[in-house]
Amino acid sequence: MTVNLFGNPHSASASSQLSMQRIESVRLRVLQFFGADPNEFDVVFVANATAGIKLVAEAMRCAPGEFDFAYHQASHTSLVGVREEARNSFCLDDGQVQAWLEASGALPDAAQRASDTLLFAYPAQSNMDGRKYPLTWPLDLRRRTSGSCRHMYSLLDAAAYAASSPLDLGRADTAPDFTVVSFYKIFGFPDLGALIVRRQAEEAFDHRRYFGGGTVDMVVCVQEQWHVPKRQFLHERLEDGTLPVHSIIALDAALDTHKRLFGTMAQVRSHTSFLWHRLYRGLESLTHFDGSAVCVLYTPKPAAGPQGNGNSVNCGPVVTFNIRNHLGAWVGLAEFEKLSSLKKIHIRTGGVCNPGGVAAALSLQPWEMKQNFSAGFRCGTENDIMGGKPTGVIRASLGAMSTMADVDGLIGFVDEFYRDVVPVQTAEQLGICRKQANLYVSGITVYPIKSCAGFEVPEGVRWEVRPEGLAWDREWCLVHRGSGHALSQKQHPRMALILPVLDFGRGELRVSVEVGLPESRAKVSVPLSNNPSHFCRPRSAKPIVPRVCGEEIAPQTYASPEINDFFSQVLGVPCQLVRFTPGGQGKKTMRYAKAHLQKHQVVYKSPEASSDQEAPKRRILLSNESPVLAISAASLGALNCRIRERGGQAVSATAFRANILIAPSGSGGAEQAEQQAYAEDDWSVVRIGKQRFKTLGACRRCHMVCIDQTTAERSDEPFVTLAKTRRLDGKVYFGIHMAHESLSLPAEDGSVDAQFPTIRVGDVVQPA
Ligand SMILES: *Cc1c(COP(=O)(O)O)cnc(C)c1O
Repeated sequence: MTVNLFGNPHSASASSQLSMQRIESVRLRVLQFFGADPNEFDVVFVANATAGIKLVAEAMRCAPGEFDFAYHQASHTSLVGVREEARNSFCLDDGQVQAWLEASGALPDAAQRASDTLLFAYPAQSNMDGRKYPLTWPLDLRRRTSGSCRHMYSLLDAAAYAASSPLDLGRADTAPDFTVVSFYKIFGFPDLGALIVRRQAEEAFDHRRYFGGGTVDMVVCVQEQWHVPKRQFLHERLEDGTLPVHSIIALDAALDTHKRLFGTMAQVRSHTSFLWHRLYRGLESLTHFDGSAVCVLYTPKPAAGPQGNGNSVNCGPVVTFNIRNHLGAWVGLAEFEKLSSLKKIHIRTGGVCNPGGVAAALSLQPWEMKQNFSAGFRCGTENDIMGGKPTGVIRASLGAMSTMADVDGLIGFVDEFYRDVVPVQTAEQLGICRKQANLYVSGITVYPIKSCAGFEVPEGVRWEVRPEGLAWDREWCLVHRGSGHALSQKQHPRMALILPVLDFGRGELRVSVEVGLPESRAKVSVPLSNNPSHFCRPRSAKPIVPRVCGEEIAPQTYASPEINDFFSQVLGVPCQLVRFTPGGQGKKTMRYAKAHLQKHQVVYKSPEASSDQEAPKRRILLSNESPVLAISAASLGALNCRIRERGGQAVSATAFRANILIAPSGSGGAEQAEQQAYAEDDWSVVRIGKQRFKTLGACRRCHMVCIDQTTAERSDEPFVTLAKTRRLDGKVYFGIHMAHESLSLPAEDGSVDAQFPTIRVGDVVQPA
């Protein structure tokens, strides 16, 4: 690209011709890479494997007499989606595929009228557990078809398989009719895929209706509607519009580089297969102190035999598993993912785009999946254990570039954090009733702008408590200008450096940053009054509604470019300040807060409780926002002891972004403080000064606690130590959520406290 000019293909200029030549030579190289004869196969460049699948689906949809679709249960979501275009579709497991292909039996559910065309699709390697499927199935299908007047086509999804195994299309008579691959999965770059078509099956595209630029020899529009598709090569008819010229040229370089670094795909296969055996055996052999297994593996066990004998393996270099503690309780996927990312391990968790494979591995029934969906489960969210079952898997994939150290690192990580060497602490044991010391409020902090620095309530100031939380807490938030998503420190650690100060004297929120901007531009002030003139009027019929944790909320957006530009510059993200104004809008905010609370509250039973019918249910709030969050200085002290024991640096209370810091009063000494650690786990009602709060459960933590609130730098403490010492039911907890109980004010209290409830630093704390 630095020495050539590559023009848009399809014209006579030298630059255009150069692009065409390069593209055609890469096309040939791709065929050679898969051992395919250009007389027998054609390559259609597409964006990714999914786009290749869609081209096939589009052709099938147009087949006269419609089409039926049979797909293997282990198919990727992108393959499963083809069924929506088919008249009849069949999801088959291994046995059903074998039976159907071998015997001349009909498809399981053939009561319906069969279509004239049938497409059979399956993955060469499952992206769920790495299992490989027979590459002989296309031939079996072809044998089965002979003599029938139905058209039957095979579609092989080789996206996962080709990444670490040689895909050999050397024999056209046994090869699939359509094969899709994603090049970035093999080479890392470029972001490109291919649909490889067996020329004998080209006729399948004859009924395709759409045509795009570059695919036609002539088009007539005026008065008559007539066009002639290009005829010579299939790819000419299917590559709509301008090809990704530079990506295709980059593929040439990728092929060279991959070969230089890793040799042949057969070598890649032996290397990854050796590592795979090591990873599998390592995870399989981890046991808790009582001998029970740490990992439940879903990937098939490697056959006994010489390690690394690449040719005999029936499985790609993927190990899929879940983790249990010695009592059999599952480790939450979200927590596993947070901890592994802190430890710089790149690993996938969840449904991994393989609905059938995951449901089969976890024996999730359709009703359970639907029930989980109604209960709030969505792909990519934190509700990962529902009804006592995991909703997804942990998947470790190896590639040409993986090393023995990577493998040992993962095994060591699971060993260090998830292997129980002593019985796990249960809810009761973590919060054994201790003698209560005298407690008091040693600090109150509000966070006027969500995810930005806190504002410490000065000593002696009475601070209002509202049903939705402390006054001015999270009154504002920053939202991305395009998506409307609320910005969070998790993605933008620099938010910690934005310091808001509530100045009631001047009626403004003064916001400043200490680093990164020239002094003149390092501050901005936002009026505390919510005069409508400060806000944008909704312009479009469907304004972008900010979302917090996936919930829509009803806020007002500031109009001032000065305000919005300040935040955008500090964070380097186009964003806007929005406010949840009190008054009419405030009610909505409150309602939102309440709805949010109800939605995210789950009933948690401690292991003891489930064995004891009488034990009360314990509530734990999953949301990261609750009316009020309190932490205990004694618990923080205990946590810091553990961190120091492990050679780490103590963390400050600010990391937990609590509203209320509760500390033992008097000079009880370290020993007394130690005894008080985690006493808050048992509280159900707390009096603070004259106010009553109901506790809503422990606060589930994420790795945001690892951001130093004064420097915005990330480390792996305190999350790593919390994960080792405060993990309960697969989740990590620190601090308690509380809500003010406005309805239950004791009658003897003065009306002022009832109408205007407040707390202040120094108030006595009395748990019940
Ligand atoms: C990744 C993958 C796909 C989808 O590939 P894209 O490049 O995302 O379109 C399909 N099938 C399998 C087996 C995969 O591993």
